[in-house]
Amino acid sequence: MSDAPVIHWFRRDLRLTDNTALRAALKTRQPVIALFIFDPVFERSAYFSANRMAWLIENLKMLDAMLRDYGTRLVIRRGDSVRVLHQFVFETRADAVYANADYTPFSTRRDTRAAEVLGRTPLHLFDDLVLHAPGTVMTGSLKPYSVYTPFRKRWLELPKPAVQTGHIDGRRFHDLIGIDAPEIPMLADFGTRERVIDLPPAGELAAQRRLNEFTRSAIFQYRDRRNRLTPDPFTDPAPLGTSYLSPYLRLGVLSPRQAYGAAVSAKNAAGDDENARLSVDTWIAELAWREFYMHVMFHFPYVRHSNFNPLFDQVEYRTAPDELQRWQEGMTGYPVIDAAMRQLNAVGWMHNRARMIVGSFLTKSLLIDYHAGERYFMRHLLDGDPAANIGGWQWIAGGGTDAQPYYRIFNPVLQSQRYDPDGDYIRYWIPELRDLSAKAIHAPWELPNPPSGYPPPIVDHKFARERALSAFQRIKKEAAQ
Ligand SMILES: Cc1cc2nc3c(=O)[nH]c(=O)nc-3n(C[C@H](O)[C@H](O)[C@H](O)COP(=O)(O)OP(=O)(O)OC[C@H]3O[C@@H](n4cnc5c(N)ncnc54)[C@H](O)[C@@H]3O)c2cc1C
Repeated sequence: MSDAPVIHWFRRDLRLTDNTALRAALKTRQPVIALFIFDPVFERSAYFSANRMAWLIENLKMLDAMLRDYGTRLVIRRGDSVRVLHQFVFETRADAVYANADYTPFSTRRDTRAAEVLGRTPLHLFDDLVLHAPGTVMTGSLKPYSVYTPFRKRWLELPKPAVQTGHIDGRRFHDLIGIDAPEIPMLADFGTRERVIDLPPAGELAAQRRLNEFTRSAIFQYRDRRNRLTPDPFTDPAPLGTSYLSPYLRLGVLSPRQAYGAAVSAKNAAGDDENARLSVDTWIAELAWREFYMHVMFHFPYVRHSNFNPLFDQVEYRTAPDELQRWQEGMTGYPVIDAAMRQLNAVGWMHNRARMIVGSFLTKSLLIDYHAGERYFMRHLLDGDPAANIGGWQWIAGGGTDAQPYYRIFNPVLQSQRYDPDGDYIRYWIPELRDLSAKAIHAPWELPNPPSGYPPPIVDHKFARERALSAFQRIKKEAAQ
């Protein structure tokens, strides 16, 4: 056994429990150095989000606090990941680097480059971010799936990896004597002056708490409640509806095995309550959506920039900066759209149903290219993730994998009546409409005296629908010629 240290390079796996690469590093019985690198490529990106950077920092602090209990710390470095890693290996004389694989085009390029630059020092990569890595869920003729339902069917059939339990031997961490370990930077160190939202509780204990709460109760009603728009899950002590785990899954503060394992235990606990068991299955299917989009981006990396169905790149979208701004600010005059956008701006999260409604509104009712919405989401969402976000936007805009057909254009009033029947979601996020009845709140412009301070609708739904249909039909016709 060598005395040289090994490095565990944390990326989007910010937890100590059930961490495949970290366990492998600790198993070498060599001193393990925990490293995180802030790469300026993310700070320069059009996707940069002050919210998500603040969320990352808070989770790094929690990780660091846990590492301190083991007599070590999280070593932070800043700069080009590959160059910094190479330099750090040289400085510490580490003889191996451990990390969990990420599958985005950027991450795979970065890791290939890192392995080359490290030369004889191996970079050991592990599958950990997903239950089934890209390349392992394929059709009978070994092709990647481009439709969700058959993907999910195959994904469900595969044996699932178990949660890796057992305590961590803290003696295996490096004491960092002789290694510079500066404090975790603050948001201001990244030159951002943006106001940041109040964050949910960070760290893997908080993630576990939320998972436990969800799988003890709300998961059993998930099938019936998941589309109901709930005012603010992050302040509600016992939220019903969805799990609100996406910000934790995004950074790997929670592993997909932990999520899946807890769901399976819940299903067992449901006994012969068929509705509860089906509800758990419905939730598990959401974990399959998460992996589906990661696989899609891995196998079809062009979706990063253009539609999965290239025909949709031909749509003549409108350039309407004022309307885009009103959509962003939650001032379209359609209460459900405005409530959802104000929720995003206020808490960095939005309900899935609301994401679909505002997505349809932007790309179909306003006929604005999905990229504008996709980027805006990335700049605000705590869970902003290129694969899921691009997948969701292309799906709703019509050009995605098994996309919502172009002719399905959500009527924002009907969606609102259906998924916020009492108007509580709207009332919570739009104080101007607080006094309206459940009947009037979805279309306040129809009142004889609409509330002052709230705008009339930005566009007439019927007109917008016809406009979108003719834009989409034009490309369909051209393609058929
Ligand atoms: C336009 C649009 C953009 C989206 N952008 C993102 C994004 O940037 N990041 C993101 O994580 N999700 C995104 N989603 C998917 C979905 O809205 C969120 O994952 C979900 O709302 C998170 O809330 P939750 O944790 O309570 O979900 P739950 O309903 O409790 O689901 C559990 C987990 O399954 C995964 N999941 C659920 N639905 C989806 C889905 N449709 N696609 C991929 N994963 C899913 C998430 O990891 C989620 O945390 C987007 C959806 C749309 C329509």
